[in-house]
Amino acid sequence: MRDSFGREISYMRISITDRCNLRCHYCMPQKGIELAPAEEILAFEEIVLVCQAAAELGVRDFKITGGEPLVRPGCPELVGMIKKIPGVRQVTLTTNGFFLERYLDKLLENGLDAVNISLDTLNEKLYQQITGFDVLPAVKAGIGYALKKRLKVKINSVLQRGIHDREWMSLAELAKDVPADVRFIEMMPIGLGKKYQGVSGEEVLLNLKEKYPGIKPDETFHGNGPAVYYRIPGFSGSIGFISAVHGQFCGSCNRIRLTAKGELKPCLCYGSSVDIKEIVRNPVYANGEEKREELKNAVREAISRKPERHCFATEEQITEGRQMVQIGG
Ligand code: SAM
Ligand code: SF4
Repeated sequence: MRDSFGREISYMRISITDRCNLRCHYCMPQKGIELAPAEEILAFEEIVLVCQAAAELGVRDFKITGGEPLVRPGCPELVGMIKKIPGVRQVTLTTNGFFLERYLDKLLENGLDAVNISLDTLNEKLYQQITGFDVLPAVKAGIGYALKKRLKVKINSVLQRGIHDREWMSLAELAKDVPADVRFIEMMPIGLGKKYQGVSGEEVLLNLKEKYPGIKPDETFHGNGPAVYYRIPGFSGSIGFISAVHGQFCGSCNRIRLTAKGELKPCLCYGSSVDIKEIVRNPVYANGEEKREELKNAVREAISRKPERHCFATEEQITEGRQMVQIGG
């Protein structure tokens, strides 16, 4: 389905939990957040109903996120449940990687198509400083295992000025020997992200051009997102930029977001959402077909409410007051 600006909406991010085993300081307060009570979180069967309605409207690709999706028991099975929905093309996952080695076989059995792993630094001390935990070896093991199993891997890094702004070098080098794309995501002024200064994609690209003069735009297809890719000669993977703040990528926005509490969000930076849990749990519908139609109307409503562009450049206009861990990124 197209939104009111003619953009085809084919992708949904589904947050399945607001819990996380890490405390990345730009995403989750050190003391944690007030967690949603269990009964407020959509059950997997309820999530599947929303995905079915969305798939009937042309949403083809689904990304499972969180919080940390792998802390919720049954995450691999949810992948399989969504994959079975007619019209679904890809189900992918974004994770901090800590539990990846443990669950990867099950995820693959259930048809996972690709994984994004968040990794801001390869320096153990800095990793602990940013995430609150000394678990970099486990994350690296997860990445290694996913690559061994030939799963498509993307590494996502958010750089922070004055904390690890030089890490672009070692992170980019990851793409040299292994076929993983390394992507630099600009810090977004959502929740705690407002407190940290990010590094623009443009700056990282300039640095890369200086170090690797042969770097060139990579026009091959890399997935559903707004990332722009480059190739460095001799590298197995590509380097991507998600310039959320400085880049004007809203023209190609293709997504809506479902929070763990059952809200459909038209845009990351606005608090407005369509309450889908109310429909999923409402006993008023005579049958499944009637409920499905109502869910489709809710998805249509969320898509039609998509604004033309985000307002990250004018922070006072941001109405999303929650932390990223509660939204799903
Ligand atoms: N726990 C999983 C993970 O870390 O991949 C999934 C959820 S996390 C909220 C999804 C992504 O959002 C991560 O790559 C994280 O780095 C990113 N993120 C969190 N807060 C952000 C912010 N303020 N600006 C940009 N990206 C952010
Ligand atoms: Fe957890 Fe992911 Fe947020 Fe880090 S970025 S605190 S791993 S949800």
